[in-house]
Parts: sequence; C-alpha cells; structure tokens
Amino acid sequence: DPQLNANYTFENYIEGDCNRLARSAGYAVAAKPGGTSFNPLMIYGGVGLGKTHLAQAIGNEIKHSMPDKLVIYVSCEKFCQQFVDSLKNNTINDFVNFYQAMDVIIMDDVHNFAGKEKTQDIFFHIFNHLHQSGKQVILTSDKAPKDLAGLEERLLSRFKWGLSADLQIPDLETRIAILRKKMYADGIELPGEVVEYVAHNIDNNVRELEGAMVSLLAQATLNKKEIDLALAKQMLKNFIKNTSKEISMEYIQKLVCEYFEVPVDMVKSQTRKREIVQARQISMYLSKSHTKSSLKTIGAFFGGRDHSTVIYACQTVEDLIDTDKKFKAYVHDIQKKLKMS
Ligand code: ADP
Ligand code: MG
Repeated sequence: DPQLNANYTFENYIEGDCNRLARSAGYAVAAKPGGTSFNPLMIYGGVGLGKTHLAQAIGNEIKHSMPDKLVIYVSCEKFCQQFVDSLKNNTINDFVNFYQAMDVIIMDDVHNFAGKEKTQDIFFHIFNHLHQSGKQVILTSDKAPKDLAGLEERLLSRFKWGLSADLQIPDLETRIAILRKKMYADGIELPGEVVEYVAHNIDNNVRELEGAMVSLLAQATLNKKEIDLALAKQMLKNFIKNTSKEISMEYIQKLVCEYFEVPVDMVKSQTRKREIVQARQISMYLSKSHTKSSLKTIGAFFGGRDHSTVIYACQTVEDLIDTDKKFKAYVHDIQKKLKMS
C-alpha cells in the first residue's frame, strides 16, 4: 500500500512510559480491528512525538496479518483536498463510496479539520457509516478531543466515543533506546558518550532527536570521520539553532484562505460575501500583527483599500476575539500555523 510507510512498524516503535497506553491500545486494535471498544482510537500529542509512526504501525500490522482487509491511511489535509476536488469534478459519490468501503481508516492530524465545516460534514457521515458497520477508525491529533477548537460538536462527540491515548516526550532512557535503534538500523555505531550527549540535549521531540542523529551519522559516513564528543557538540550547536523566517502578507493570505476554504484571489476582490469579508479582515489583522507592513501597504495589498479600512478590520477582529469563542479559536489556530512556518 503506497500510503503506508513500511518502516513505521511496532517493531521499530520503542516502548516507554511516554507511549505505553497508546502503544498497547494500538496493538489491541491491530489484532482485532473494529472488534474492541477502542473505536475510534485517537492518538494525540505534540509535534514529532510519534503519532504518525504509531498510527501507521497499526495499519502495517493489519495489512500483514489480515491481507484481505482494506486499510486506508490518509492525512486530514489530503482528505480535505480530495473533498474539494470531488466537489469541483462532481464525483462526491465516488469519494464517499471509496472511504465507506474501507475496513480500517487511519486519518492523521484531524486538528486540520478546524474551520472546514463542509469537509467535517462529509467525514461525519463516513465515520457513522464505518462505525455502524463495525469498521475500525484510527485518528491522530495534536490535542485531546476536548481541547480541539474549531471542530463541530457532533464530530467531536464521536471522537470521544472510543479511547483517547496521549503521547508524551520520552524520558532520557527511552530517548537513548530510540537513538540506539536508529544506529542499529543504519548499521553505524557512535560512542556511548555521544549518544548520551544527544539524548540529553535534544529533549523536546523525537523527530528532532532523530534529525540530530541522522546528521551525525551522515557526517560519519560521508567524511569517514570519527564522531567524538567534541565534534558532536560542535555539530549540534548548528542543529539546535532555530532560524525564524519572515512572514509575508502573501503567505498570510494563502494560509487564511486555505483555512476557511475560500479561493485565494477572492480576498482581494470587492465582494461583500460574509465568509470572504471575514477571511479578508483576519488577513489584514494578522498582517498588522505579524509583518512590518504599514496600514497603507496592507490596505493596498488586500484589494486597493485605504488605511481606515484596515483599522476597521483590525477593530472588528479584536471585538470578535473578545466576544466569540469560536472565532477566537479560529484566529489562534491560524496564528499557530503561521508560527510553524
Ligand atoms: P508526529 O506524527 O507525532 O509528528 P512522527 O510519527 O512523524 O511524529 O515521529 C517523528 C519521528 O520520530 C519518526 O521518524 C518516528 O519514527 C520517530 N519516533 C517517534 N516515536 C518513536 C518511538 N517511540 N520509537 C522509535 N521512533 C519513534
Ligand atoms: Mg504526523
């Protein structure tokens, strides 16, 4: 199955206190898809903590032990895109039928449903169909269902039906075990003190931990250099340094429009349609707070408007943030995406 990465297996997924519940629930689901009370199984946790790996390990395990089961892995983002395409091409029925025919659906990063009400509606129906037919649903998310903002209540209530299990940052011992596994897979040994140094210093997520190890290993292979502690320290200094990129109005516009599923060029048009006006005002508000552009430049960029329009837009957004919880959650969500760029 091209959607599943064959390297993401249970075998490669180091167990620790940080993931014990999620891992064993995943194992139970893989042994009996649709046949446990863990339906849906929701795996949640921060960036780079192993959600995708674990979710795919379940899929790979089912594929391996029950080859005739139809398993689909799809990121929420891709699902949303497919939905938009099927609207455009008049193939909604095919889209829905495809997903409803599955025995197991793994949907990654469902927090990306936020703001996409039409896609949530479709998924709600697909979810109900699968669940009623005893099919397995596996979800991942960056937050617990109760903390997911911008998702419709009826969909959230479904997400809470089964088991939600979180992933935490692995402790030092587990981080060392993950690094050792990685070295073993690559057939390269590094001195113990180097491994410990990396595990000690990179303690926010597993992806960065692995990234640091990969760059050390690459150095060792390419330059045929012995990596000693001094060299590792020097290399990791560059690795940890984070570069903050400047945010452009163009990027803000793209992000906001994607978020609300509105065509990008519409915010620059003269239309007064409610959803477009909202996207335009939020774009102006974020441009004011996240770029160095003047009010005049912002107004000009978003369809040749004057600076008083920008002031009004910012005021409107601020008022709504104070009075409308859902709106506030939307804006925060977009801000978070901006900062991750
Ligand atoms: P997320 O989806 O939560 O952002 P990923 O599943 O992409 O995180 O994991 C990031 C990287 O860390 C992947 O390469 C994954 O294989 C690795 N990883 C995470 N947790 C573990 C673990 N417990 N054991 C081994 N590798 C792990
Ligand atoms: Mg992921």
